[in-house]
Amino acid sequence: LEDVVTYPLVPGIKYDVHTHTTLSPATFELLAKFSSYEGFIRVRARSDGGCGAQMIGSDGRVFRNITETAYDAAARLADMDRYRVTVQVISPTPAMIPDYVDTEDHAVEICRILNDDNASTVAKFPERFIALGALPMRFPSAAIKEMERIKALGMRGIEINSNIQGMDLDDPRLFDIFAAAAENNMAVFVHPWAGFMSPGDVALRARMNERLRWRPWLVGMPMETALAFDSMYGGRVHERLPNLRVLYAHGGGAFPALLGRLAHGRYCRPDLFPDAPKLNHYETILQAQVYTDALTHDPFALRMLVNELGSRRVAMGSDYPYPLGEIDPFDSKSLCDPQGNTCPYPERKGIYPGHMIEHLPTTVPERRLALAHFNWLARSNADGPRRLPLFKPFELDNMLFGAAKCWLGLDRP
Ligand SMILES: [Zn+2]
Repeated sequence: LEDVVTYPLVPGIKYDVHTHTTLSPATFELLAKFSSYEGFIRVRARSDGGCGAQMIGSDGRVFRNITETAYDAAARLADMDRYRVTVQVISPTPAMIPDYVDTEDHAVEICRILNDDNASTVAKFPERFIALGALPMRFPSAAIKEMERIKALGMRGIEINSNIQGMDLDDPRLFDIFAAAAENNMAVFVHPWAGFMSPGDVALRARMNERLRWRPWLVGMPMETALAFDSMYGGRVHERLPNLRVLYAHGGGAFPALLGRLAHGRYCRPDLFPDAPKLNHYETILQAQVYTDALTHDPFALRMLVNELGSRRVAMGSDYPYPLGEIDPFDSKSLCDPQGNTCPYPERKGIYPGHMIEHLPTTVPERRLALAHFNWLARSNADGPRRLPLFKPFELDNMLFGAAKCWLGLDRP
């Protein structure tokens, strides 16, 4: 097993651009006054006395069990050392961004609590963490003020959800925030949340029930990210702010696979695009600062993503510490997860942040070796045996080291 699960020594600063934090259980009482907001999430110690903590919704139900890696920097550093991640870009867990809070003072206060927490982690370990902040997006002047405050604290960008309480990202109320981000050299991380994941419509809500094959996360999230890109492109935010550096989560969700359809649709029915950007989708991606993380879970999908965007725009992101990311939920010894499920693969997956990129083949002989690391992949398609796509060494370099620096503007003041 261990010869398949290896953590190669990576020669360079390996960035993980997509990781999340929560507040620590010590804040449970501090946040009590916000618990009347539907959607509000607090973190408390586990009621059964077990290790870790629980994220608790405003209805008092457990939203998610978490381990201390979600809120304790020392626990994160141990994992980072193990997986040879040099720098984690930390951002709040999207569900904790207070888009649903309709009182400005409260939205500002919650963002400040989230941001101060991550800023203090960076202050303690400035070589190992870079932080992105949350903003009260529904209150643009307060949002810009908070952006300036977190920039002064050393943050390199902001994390926003794919829609802001139903508002598309090209809503004119949000434009000044994006313009301020571009002006302040602050990167933007667009993460799917709400929208199609938790629709208001009763029938649609039943279809997006998380007990139905985890649909909000597996299908709703990529749809949300595609809608976010469609807003930012079609609403001409990318066109008007070509220096705004925006990274879309989860390999861009569905949008990279839809680029041809989006461009062709615009070509077919120009009457439906009266205010379309001058450039098409591909030209916009090239000429504006559009990035994604590499979190596709499939080498063929990653090859497509790199073909569409170029490896300079694709940065390794693992969704640490959550199990849907590039971290194996199954314990290496017991092969069980915290829920008691056993790993369904006879040969364990053994994935870790950067796993996909670090094992992609760059030469024909490497393909066989790479397949051992991607043992869960189907070896054939309808045409017969298939071979892993080849990547060039510079493409792997960009995804592990280069793209993150460009997106975060680390090459700029
Ligand atoms: Zn995430």
